[in-house]
Amino acid sequence: MLKGKTALVTGSTSGIGLGIAKALAQQGANIVLNGFGDAEGPKAEIAALGAKVAYHGADMSKASEIEAMMKFAADTFGRVDILVNNAGIQHVARIEDFPVERWDSIIAINLTSAFHATRLALPAMKQANWGRIINVASVHGLVASAEKSAYVAAKHGVVGLTKVTALENATSGITCNAICPGWVLTPLVQKQVDAKAAAMGLSNEEAKKVLLGEKEPSMQFTTPEELGALAVFFCSPAANNVRGVAWNMDGGWAAQ
Ligand code: NAD
Repeated sequence: MLKGKTALVTGSTSGIGLGIAKALAQQGANIVLNGFGDAEGPKAEIAALGAKVAYHGADMSKASEIEAMMKFAADTFGRVDILVNNAGIQHVARIEDFPVERWDSIIAINLTSAFHATRLALPAMKQANWGRIINVASVHGLVASAEKSAYVAAKHGVVGLTKVTALENATSGITCNAICPGWVLTPLVQKQVDAKAAAMGLSNEEAKKVLLGEKEPSMQFTTPEELGALAVFFCSPAANNVRGVAWNMDGGWAAQ
């Protein structure tokens, strides 16, 4: 379905981003990976699916590096047809204790980077009159939790940015939508499981159950594969008129 298209997925060396990149590669898209840590393993996983793959290590907190990454993607594959703004970090603390530099980096990586990548991707998408921008927000783009001020503010911002991007391009072939996962067992969430296990003297399995029980009625983690399938749907012709939605895949979290 996506043969000949190029997808750039930010923060795709692990977790949800890698899951979405694999799902798009399975549909035939060329993939540009980004993120910190090991890139060789993820590159090999994508190549094994028969897709062309490249990697750029831009730090998503830096506008100049995002510009370099977008240019690299265009130089390598012609243009970016599908942009998945996924890179994100988390920090948990009450507002009065929240380290100022952590606030700044969460807003930069989780929100401002999506603005930069979007503004840089739009001109070529407009020229082609086709594009898909998928913002990985969170259920925390729809509802809040204590001790996550920067994350909740950034993710609500991402949902707002999604709506504006969708509206500004509503009469074109460019759509923009957000995915709002509940708990997904990635390195980002494992840190929170570890913190709970340490604080409450629980095993890893017990801490996972406590985490799910606090928020997610299904008592199941959403998987990167399920989120990848939703991203593929947003890229399909059936989703041509899906514009500006914030689609939660959260085991009933936001329904409460
Ligand atoms: P993860 O830690 O597995 O992946 C985060 C990715 O972002 C990694 O590839 C990491 O290298 C990259 N990254 C971090 N800082 C970066 C920077 N400055 N520049 C470039 N890349 C950077 O986490 P994940 O859970 O897969 O998170 C992916 C996205 O999904 C995030 O936006 C997160 O907020 C969102 N999300 C996660 C969950 C969850 O339960 N895991 C739930 C809702 C939303």
